Amino acid sequence: MSTTISEKESREKAARHVSAERPILEFGGAWEYAPAPESKDHVRLESRYGLFINGAFVAAKAKGHFDTINPATEEKLAEVAEAGAADVDAAVRAAEEAYRRRWSKLKPAERGKYIYRIARLLQEKSREFAVLESLNGGKPIKESRDVDIPLAVAHFFYHAGWADKLSYAFPRRTVSPIGVCGQIIPWNFPLLMAAWKLAPALACGNTAVLKPAETTPLTALHLARICQEADLPPGVVNIVPGAGETGAHIVNHPRVAKIAFTGSTEVGKLIQRATAGTGKRLTLELGGKAANIIFEDAPLDQAVEGIVNGIYFNQGHVCCAGSRLLVQESVAETVVRKLAHRIETLRLGDPLDKNTDVGAINSKMQLEKIRELVSCGVEEGAAIHQSACPIPSRGFWFPPTFFTDVAQSNRIAREEIFGPVLAIMTFRTPDEAVEKANNIPYGLSAGVWTDKGSKIFQITSKMKAGVVWANTFNKFDPASPFGGYKESGFGREGGVHGLRAYVELT
Ligand code: NDP
Repeated sequence: MSTTISEKESREKAARHVSAERPILEFGGAWEYAPAPESKDHVRLESRYGLFINGAFVAAKAKGHFDTINPATEEKLAEVAEAGAADVDAAVRAAEEAYRRRWSKLKPAERGKYIYRIARLLQEKSREFAVLESLNGGKPIKESRDVDIPLAVAHFFYHAGWADKLSYAFPRRTVSPIGVCGQIIPWNFPLLMAAWKLAPALACGNTAVLKPAETTPLTALHLARICQEADLPPGVVNIVPGAGETGAHIVNHPRVAKIAFTGSTEVGKLIQRATAGTGKRLTLELGGKAANIIFEDAPLDQAVEGIVNGIYFNQGHVCCAGSRLLVQESVAETVVRKLAHRIETLRLGDPLDKNTDVGAINSKMQLEKIRELVSCGVEEGAAIHQSACPIPSRGFWFPPTFFTDVAQSNRIAREEIFGPVLAIMTFRTPDEAVEKANNIPYGLSAGVWTDKGSKIFQITSKMKAGVVWANTFNKFDPASPFGGYKESGFGREGGVHGLRAYVELT
């Protein structure tokens, strides 16, 4: 850990804290898991990737290449071409040409067939994509294999079905596409975010220029290969890796009709300013600081699993992560005790190991941000509890952590940490829980745990959050719209609501 407490110190402190909770195994000694690494032999990694423009991989016109690494080992995986202004312009023109001449004129059922083809090819190659996602992003293989890739496939299947049924989605209206969509995505769910963006855009008859995040471009580039295999008409999908500057070129391009952005609230505000008055459509899916509320009548063991899923899934790199835990005072001690024990059982390490629960932090920069906020939590007087798990010597890692004695005003209770760090606060009455949950500039998601159905309805209807889960957390479905309130953005992705952003209705 950075300034105030060293990692060693905090782990020793955490070990002392949880030692009383460790179960004593009768046969003596703790379980050791044998390594169970997923093979990477079937992943066809290129040493160098070009930009995907007009159906082909091409070199960048002016800029060079940047390295993309494995955050678990810091080893270089490949070099990736960086798109500059001229490349973005070429991509937008290719998308515009494809839109005008081909894609918007195609019979909707034919468009649907291409999207089905992409879904099927992705499904066939799901193992390759899962390994690639874990290699490039640091997430555990069991998550990329069981969550990211199946959900990405499901998004393509779901939207393929909509392509020729848009008149049912918008009855008594004439539905037309809008043109070239500029799409900018983050590094936490690289392929899934690409699917969330591309599938509805294509189904509605638009073409796209997509920029993956700088640290995780590989699955988007392999998706480009799938577009080639699916014989998708050239220019319908264009993929232009690069840094924030590349994203800004897309946002500012005059021929782009719509911007769809997922990322930080800070960049979302810049994009909103840049697009204001241009007539460009805009949807923003930004940060969050979700309240996960545990009532005293909740099934506590299940709730603890929900807390773990809510904050340690994908190392907490989740915009809708349940990063603020609100526990009813009468059960707070029990929940904290159970959670302290549970985080000791989480296995941190090689993302490609099938037994790994917590993988690598996505980048050095993100690790520094997590460390800075955790140090701030300690300085502000909150009590830190951290898993005593061993930390690999190379790569970017942060142990599962939670804070108790957190004040509402603490930075760890208000700012998005985007790491495996939970802030725990208590409440006495349902009204206080709602008040505390909503007392935040964000409004993306929330969770409620209680045995009473009536309480679920009473509380969820008062939450200022786009998605509220009851007695579960982090559940996604392409048919279910996802999006935020307040500083978490606007617009919905998924479901009929998600189609609305990609069509013109008259
Ligand atoms: P950013 O908002 O910086 O990045 C999201 C995407 O936007 C990336 O592709 C990024 O490129 C691009 N981008 C950056 N600057 C610009 C710009 N000026 N114009 C257009 N596009 C731009 O998020 P970070 O990746 O830096 O993460 C920082 C924080 O954002 C996290 O700690 C977390 O709090 C939050 N976040 C929220 C996410 C969510 O799902 N809501 C997802 C990811 C992050 P590049 O990759 O090169 O920076």
